[in-house]
Amino acid sequence: MNPHGLRFWNTQKQVCNICERRPWFWIPRGHQNPVIEEKGIIGAGKRYVDCLFCGSSDRDRLVFEAFKQNEAVFTKGNLLHVAPEKPLWRRWFSNGWNRIGVDARAAGYRWSYGTDILSGDLRYLDFSDGYFDAIVANHVLEHIEQVELALQQIYRMLKKGGIACLQVPFSSILEESIEAEADWDKKKREAVLGQRDHVRLYGKNFLQEWEKMGFESVSINVTPEVRSHYRMHPTEPVIILRKK
Ligand SMILES: [Zn+2]
Repeated sequence: MNPHGLRFWNTQKQVCNICERRPWFWIPRGHQNPVIEEKGIIGAGKRYVDCLFCGSSDRDRLVFEAFKQNEAVFTKGNLLHVAPEKPLWRRWFSNGWNRIGVDARAAGYRWSYGTDILSGDLRYLDFSDGYFDAIVANHVLEHIEQVELALQQIYRMLKKGGIACLQVPFSSILEESIEAEADWDKKKREAVLGQRDHVRLYGKNFLQEWEKMGFESVSINVTPEVRSHYRMHPTEPVIILRKK
């Protein structure tokens, strides 16, 4: 089993890169499921990773680190954050991005979000062409049916040279993605895809598929030392696409 995030107490003196504090222990997230190991799914499973102070997850910290380390690439400007995680959302502001947050279920999350998150479906947003310098959808696309519409929108709304950070869980074994069929219930989705509210399990080919839409993938290296220091997944890649 992957040893990532199995310890509750922060005996390794790891730090949260978002709030810059050192939690005494890490709060658990995720669920264990046999399919996660069977299919070698990266970016899923139960682990102790949430920051006691700001609530950031290992995923949030990975995305933030990629942006922090590459400020020259990720020029501060208009940033669209889809289904924004609060710890990241606050840091975009303090880091000087002009952030816009959108969630298809924002109205149902008002108790959590506040009024600055707009209600909207990524597949049908009407921001003008090339408006955004960056778009972040952190573990979002695996929940979206007809995801090609969402990817087309991301491409359209990005300016030329703009970047999209599109983290998704994926199988390190499957050659191609598996799409849920219309009659699959929650149990079937959980058994095959790894989570009951997912509509897809990405296979190894997903980046090549996205590149066919006009993106190029950008290689971002977060070292094992940095990953360990900030309690991130040891191997989850940072998935960044640039509009050519
Ligand atoms: Zn924190």
